[in-house]
Amino acid sequence: MASANLTIPSQPMSYTELVHVAQQDLSLSLPEQLWWAHYAFWNNDILATGIITFLAHEVIYFGRCLPWIIADSLPNVFRRFKIQDQKPPPTVHDQWTCVKYILLIHFVIELPLIVLFHPMMDMCGLQYTPPFPRLSLLSAQVALFFIVEDTYHYWLHRAMHWGPLYRSIHRIHHQYAAPFGLTAEYASPWETFLLGLGTICPPLVLGYFTGDVHLVTVLVWMALRQLQAIDSHSGYDFPWSLRRLMPFWGGSDWHDDHHRYFWGNYSSSFRYWDILMGTVAGPRGKAMGHNPRG
Ligand SMILES: [Zn+2]
Ligand SMILES: [Zn+2]
Repeated sequence: MASANLTIPSQPMSYTELVHVAQQDLSLSLPEQLWWAHYAFWNNDILATGIITFLAHEVIYFGRCLPWIIADSLPNVFRRFKIQDQKPPPTVHDQWTCVKYILLIHFVIELPLIVLFHPMMDMCGLQYTPPFPRLSLLSAQVALFFIVEDTYHYWLHRAMHWGPLYRSIHRIHHQYAAPFGLTAEYASPWETFLLGLGTICPPLVLGYFTGDVHLVTVLVWMALRQLQAIDSHSGYDFPWSLRRLMPFWGGSDWHDDHHRYFWGNYSSSFRYWDILMGTVAGPRGKAMGHNPRG
């Protein structure tokens, strides 16, 4: 990886030594120096991007699921915040079954896609060298990705509830009618791939047409999208949940109704597609004249 003011040393160096090399470029912030040293250390951009993306994915997924696992193990404390509080919390067996299946999906389906991401990113003209993007540009692009992904997710998820697609692909994700954090990515490999395109493609397409999308923006977007998916499957709704600050945000109470009633609330991050298309689930939808099964 090239940088305007730095060249990769010809002799092998440790990561710490490479950080010292990066510190010679005074225009770089500390995160940018660490980033440069990471790429210089591996000296193989595909591998360096793959490692950082896959590790981020694993740390965020299991790191964010951990508080929900703890909450499920302390029903006396947290049951009052549980949405479907009449149902027993997931057992250790349920949690462990999910962990094993998700690790399989992560290594067999997501890891190859992550390795392929660097060549696709190169083809579409995304940047990955320092400097990092401006916060204002990063925020605007991530907001756009949320809107595009939510639209894609709404229509594809709704299509997946059509009989043949439901039976052959989507049924696995609905194995748990009362979802919990780890079930966010509990889905068929085809579903992981097809719905995953809604996360991967928007940055590639925007990068191709504007030439101004950075890998750091993509990693922030992927992290926030993961956090959104895990939280919406948590099964808990707190007085401080994001959807109370942002009434258009989907949140766990919205997606929990999708799993509970097997109909409606098809979008991922927001509520407006379901409201516009008359597919709001449960008693809330029935009150709006939407839900045939409410
Ligand atoms: Zn569904
Ligand atoms: Zn779900």
